[in-house]
Amino acid sequence: MGFETKTPWYFEGLRFHCRKCGNCCCGPREGYVWLTQIEIESIADTLKISVKQVMQKYCRRVGDRISLIERYDNKNCIFLRDNCCAIYDVRPKQCRTWPFWISSLSTNDAWEKATENCPGINNGCLYSFEEIQKIMG
Ligand code: SF4
Ligand code: SF4
Repeated sequence: MGFETKTPWYFEGLRFHCRKCGNCCCGPREGYVWLTQIEIESIADTLKISVKQVMQKYCRRVGDRISLIERYDNKNCIFLRDNCCAIYDVRPKQCRTWPFWISSLSTNDAWEKATENCPGINNGCLYSFEEIQKIMG
């Protein structure tokens, strides 16, 4: 009896090139950008403020997790400025790995669904299967 090896549907790679439209950082729906302690420390270092200040000014607790807050008027991420990320170099993993999330890679339909809000998907550079796995961590 042998092992069945299932080839992922995206084995030939996928195309993505960010158009910097800002959609993935915007409302109007509420969302979550999850942060680890290390990511909070990196943001604090970058902004030259304390971890406590980052927590007070930019974060909220959701259960036992921490998320960035959003602007109250439009639900945009608190760090979105002129369609650009104000903490780009230290943006959380959730942001760095989009669109190569387990959820969007689960099926071809899920990937196509993600194109509805992200014009960068299926455009531009071809990411190999190995590169995608590496990005996903
Ligand atoms: S929605 Fe897609 S194309 Fe637009 S900024 Fe986000 S990742 Fe880039
Ligand atoms: S941290 Fe930056 S990349 Fe992530 S949602 Fe906020 S503005 Fe977008």
